[in-house]
Amino acid sequence: WSIDESKSLYGIDRWGKGYFDINSDGEVVVNLKDGEETIAVSLEKVIQGLKERGQALPQLLRCRDLLDDRIHQLNRTFRDTMASLDYEGQYRGVYPIKVNQQQQVIEEITELGVHYDYGLEAGSKPELIAALAYMHNPNAYIICNGYKDDEFIDLALLASQTGLQIILVIEMPDELDHIIERSKHLGIDPQLGIRFRLSTKSAGHWADSGGDRSVFGLNSSQVLEVVDTLKAHDKLHCLKLLHYHQGSQIPNIQEIRNAAVEAIRIYVNLVQEGAPMGILDLGGGLAVDYDGSHTDFSSSCNYSLKEYCFNILELVKSHCDQNSIPHPNIVSESGRYVVAYYSVLVFNILAVSEYKNLDAPEPPLDEAHEMLKSLWAVREKIAPNRLLESFNDIQFYRDQIRQSFIQGACGLRDRAYGEKLYWHLCTQIAAESAKLENPHEDLQALQNNLVSYYYGNFSVFQSLPDSWAIDQLFPIMPLHRLNEEPDHPAILSDITCDCDGKIDRFIDEKDVNNSLLLHSLNKEESYHVGTFLVGAYQETLGDLHNLLGDTNVVSIDLEDGELRFTHEVEGDSVADVLSYVEYEPKDLEKRFRKFAEKSVEQGRISPTIRRQLVETYKAGLAGYTYFEEN
Ligand code: PLP
Repeated sequence: WSIDESKSLYGIDRWGKGYFDINSDGEVVVNLKDGEETIAVSLEKVIQGLKERGQALPQLLRCRDLLDDRIHQLNRTFRDTMASLDYEGQYRGVYPIKVNQQQQVIEEITELGVHYDYGLEAGSKPELIAALAYMHNPNAYIICNGYKDDEFIDLALLASQTGLQIILVIEMPDELDHIIERSKHLGIDPQLGIRFRLSTKSAGHWADSGGDRSVFGLNSSQVLEVVDTLKAHDKLHCLKLLHYHQGSQIPNIQEIRNAAVEAIRIYVNLVQEGAPMGILDLGGGLAVDYDGSHTDFSSSCNYSLKEYCFNILELVKSHCDQNSIPHPNIVSESGRYVVAYYSVLVFNILAVSEYKNLDAPEPPLDEAHEMLKSLWAVREKIAPNRLLESFNDIQFYRDQIRQSFIQGACGLRDRAYGEKLYWHLCTQIAAESAKLENPHEDLQALQNNLVSYYYGNFSVFQSLPDSWAIDQLFPIMPLHRLNEEPDHPAILSDITCDCDGKIDRFIDEKDVNNSLLLHSLNKEESYHVGTFLVGAYQETLGDLHNLLGDTNVVSIDLEDGELRFTHEVEGDSVADVLSYVEYEPKDLEKRFRKFAEKSVEQGRISPTIRRQLVETYKAGLAGYTYFEEN
């Protein structure tokens, strides 16, 4: 088994974009910058370093270099494409805070994007408040989307007096009245934008964000009402921007083109109505190729960033030229593109449970239940032309044995023996049917069902909410042993004990796989798995299901060839998560101490046991919410 086979199996060259690779030791590496040099850092070594520092898994690893590169790629590609098309406007992208609101992310984006006048998009009052603390570049835009109350509007208007370019985007028909009223009250002219509700609908998970029936944005008659109201108040000069948002992760370039055409037609008409305009905001939609298939599948995209920029800019330019109007500055709100690669979730596998059973049990004893003997006899039948018949037979006998157990005709030992034998026969039938060119669909289903459950130390609900909520696919693979053949088709189960707490859909270049090949566990070494491209949306959409909290977070970078761990954030403790659901940890401890003391008084436990019990309770409160290895 070669490393190239692992590369092809897990598709790392397809989705890794040169950021992730496998080294000659069979370990996943991330390529980080050390000055001008690029150095491959093994994630296994990172985990080792964290362990030595007492930092437990699961961990979210963040890589500032990857964020830097994505900001650079986005801005450079827009700029270069503009230059190649003689486009006269500028690209002034904004990062939509909702995609990953963590303080470190906003701080790093504002630092790294400063050379490009890269701005921020705030979709709510809290996001605007965060934006104003970090974005102080007068050349960058702060775009305010979302529903706005007076406090939101006042803050934006007053802050614009400092020289910041804050644009209030009208998303709802009645918002304009409020903005005009507050602007008159404060004596400050707003810079305004309109969010247009496209009739163009796109495919993908987030299709409902666009199209006639989307929740936000104004339709064409509402757009004209805004124009007329602004004219009536002599404020049309405030209208600077047209915004639209097709939805996140638009996989098909044709749909991006269709939306851009509709938007530029509206833009041209607004200029013709007498609005100064000057900015076209494309919203989000620029997709990430999670499965590396480069197709219009929902977890992928059939275009490159270069094609995205070229297609949009060419259309905008030609429509503006035809109508003799200046080329607008272009804003995109491409959050997923910028942050998806930034974070990797790494976790350890705690246990495996297998259905596959290669070891034949002993034959049933003479006095065994008749159905067990019949089940055993099916072994003789298993042959390429009788696989479906054999499979039907073993299911019949297995059900008969279960019935007999319920009716009291056989005991638990017979039932357990029957199940073991059943899975052994299933394994044999599946192995034979895998050799057939076109096995019956029941046999194909059997092959898929013979997977192992690998129990990972993480929570789907907390760390990969989109995997659970909308079946989004993420690249997942072992972080080491990639020079060994993985031979266990597996489903990943988390530790929430919820039957939805599992991942059973995995990326594949051509299809979706319902299992992931993993290695058998070694007793002496823990087995590590990484989920990649989780920087967008996953951190704050997560919930506290089963009270499993935030994981530990750490950033990694290089300095003088040495790996550095920075921005360490300890994950939630048990006391933290309990306090989120309104327990008071001190009170919990007090109540438990009292109960333990009563148990001593009533002679149920000794004072020494009481001491151990209270210490264990306190240690539990202070501990990590995930499985802690000794
Ligand atoms: N802008 C708006 C208004 C959004 O609602 C969103 C998210 O859906 C985005 C930008 C981010 O889009 P993307 O995920 O494509 O980066």
